Amino acid sequence: MKQRSISEILASSQEPLIDGIIVIDDHGVIRAFDTAAQQLFGYSLEEVIAQPIIILMSESQGQSHTNYINLALKKSSAQSQQLHIERTIIGKHKQGHSIPLAITVSADTSSPDTRFTGVIQDLRKHEVHLTSLFQDIQANTAALNQRIEFEGMLNFHGNQLLSCSPQNFRSTMENTLQAIAQSLTLDHSYILQLSPDLKEANLWSEWRRSASLMKPFANRFSIPNNEAFAKQLSSPDTLIIEAKDNQEDNLLFDLAQQLSPNGFISTRITPIFNDENTLVGCIGFSILDSKHQMNKDNISLLNLATQLIINAWGRHQLIIRANDAEEKIKAKNKLLANKAAFSQTLLRSSSALFLSTRDKIKNNIHESLLQAALISGHQNAYLYFNKSKSTTLQSFVNQYLNQQQISSTTLPCLIAFTLQQLEQQEIVQFECLDSRILSGELLAELSANKIQGITAVKLHRAKQVIGFVLFFNSLPVLNSNDENLRFLQLTGQNVAAAISHHSVQYELELSKKSLVNANRVLAKQALNDALTGLPNRRAFDHGIAQEFDRAQRHESNLTLLMCDIDFFKHYNDYFGHSQGDTCLQQVASIIQTTFHRAGELCTRFGGEEFAILLPSISPKEAHLQAQRLLDTLLDSQIKHAPEIELGFVTMSIGIAQLSQQSRFSNHSALIDAADKALYQAKNNGRNQLAWANEAE
Ligand code: GH3
Ligand code: MG
Ligand code: MG
Repeated sequence: MKQRSISEILASSQEPLIDGIIVIDDHGVIRAFDTAAQQLFGYSLEEVIAQPIIILMSESQGQSHTNYINLALKKSSAQSQQLHIERTIIGKHKQGHSIPLAITVSADTSSPDTRFTGVIQDLRKHEVHLTSLFQDIQANTAALNQRIEFEGMLNFHGNQLLSCSPQNFRSTMENTLQAIAQSLTLDHSYILQLSPDLKEANLWSEWRRSASLMKPFANRFSIPNNEAFAKQLSSPDTLIIEAKDNQEDNLLFDLAQQLSPNGFISTRITPIFNDENTLVGCIGFSILDSKHQMNKDNISLLNLATQLIINAWGRHQLIIRANDAEEKIKAKNKLLANKAAFSQTLLRSSSALFLSTRDKIKNNIHESLLQAALISGHQNAYLYFNKSKSTTLQSFVNQYLNQQQISSTTLPCLIAFTLQQLEQQEIVQFECLDSRILSGELLAELSANKIQGITAVKLHRAKQVIGFVLFFNSLPVLNSNDENLRFLQLTGQNVAAAISHHSVQYELELSKKSLVNANRVLAKQALNDALTGLPNRRAFDHGIAQEFDRAQRHESNLTLLMCDIDFFKHYNDYFGHSQGDTCLQQVASIIQTTFHRAGELCTRFGGEEFAILLPSISPKEAHLQAQRLLDTLLDSQIKHAPEIELGFVTMSIGIAQLSQQSRFSNHSALIDAADKALYQAKNNGRNQLAWANEAE
């Protein structure tokens, strides 16, 4: 409000305007003093006439008065006109007390003897007006200050609402509601968010003056008559609901009452519309205490605040929607990046596993699984194999993939549970807290390892389940999406395929090895005599051909002893064929112990005949060796049939030697010669040796 001038106030007054007239000359001497002035100042006419005017003034004003008159005279002489000066001064009563005065001075400068006429008004008489004026100004100032302060506060909170992060918006809004309500002495402020069908209202943000004293407000309301409700809030105007409005079928009153279980004196509800002009919420301010009634100024401030909140809310909704869209794009990008990482990892691990050497397969599988675990948000992986029906697979697993153990005591429980879970599915996720696997010890172990969730993937080889992989997660809630699960499943298939590949290789190798062994046995069997274990006739034929060639090339000697047991027919006849076999084995063993140097070849030539090849010995040495064999056999005293004179088994030996002196054309000739010599030895009486004739 504009401050009124004193004259305006006086002009509006009902009181008489003049409380005294005083005339002075240009020396400041009183020349006239009317009765009213005499009453006002307490002086009689005689006491003041010809006295200086300053006796009627306070000291400070008296001093400046002379200057003042001079100034007035100067002005007036220059322009020679009437002065009309209005001043407020403090007059002095004869008794000494001050009198607040308004004085209007006019000067008549037309004659040389200038006269100043002062019309005096006693301001004390207008005290009532002044007081009201003062209060008026004070009230205006307070309202102005409140407004300035409120606007400052609103500005601050408005900035906060605009600059805060979406996460902090709600708490910032709560602070704002509180600041507004406190500034305007309101008791409850809130924002309701309405469901799109307007059937439900959520208490989105709220402040109440006394949380401890006021009953809590419901967080969620259903709006039974939502159409009528929407109609009530269809215009952006603020609805004012007073306690006295309590009437039946007043939806807003019902809602306001739901919001204020403590009751209310008045509540103001303003609808909030989004940018598509859809009703999305409302903002409310209530008064519960009769001392907190709102005045006109407060209402205008509240409207200002309400508008600010609605704008900030609208902006927030837009930001959230924009953020949502951004999040969706980010998630999609992440998914694509994940997909790329997944397929790359699968490809890499697949080739690494297939190309791996067998002794590194365990490490490579472990590495692949660990990588898959990390990339899919798990912490670790554990590989388990069933006991396999296939012995080769089992031995492959034992030898190359021996699994790491969590704990031998707790593992069976987890394994049994996992196997059961995987019965119908390829991949399954469960929480460790699942009561079905809740074994105290296991749970303790899992939680000691900070494992709360498990993803299990089945491993196949053909149609056989060979085991599973457990991917451990430190999160209790497994938030793996489909893509993640598919990746883990493919990882499992990768590992299973690699295991299958390597175990088949292993199996092939094993069967190849056993085939080689079998062949070796067969080959051995083909060249050895089953009864005596000596190389057989085939081995002899092979050996003599080789040795004959070698001896010829090196021009060295090659001796052939052709041995035949004497009267063996008798032996068989007397002891039986089986005992005959044993005798043959005994004789073979004697031959073998007699000739055991490298290069010497003792063979069973056939029946009870043995052929012995002795390389690089002289005829003398050959003779001695053959004789040694005869002696050893006789000394062995193998009992012969009773009709045999000597009583013991003996043999006859024919000796033929390839040498520089005796050059046989081929090995058959050597054999023939030895044979002939044997025949000779038999004829000579047996149990003796005979030399072949030298070859020509
Ligand atoms: P000689 O002193 O003239 O060599 O008389 P011998 O009886 O040893 O000769 P003969 O050729 O008449 O008989 C050889 C016998 O050796 C006949 C055969 O039954 C026996 N014989 C050959 N091979 C085996 C065999 O593997 N086991 C047994 N128990 N007897 C065999
Ligand atoms: Mg014979
Ligand atoms: Mg014989």
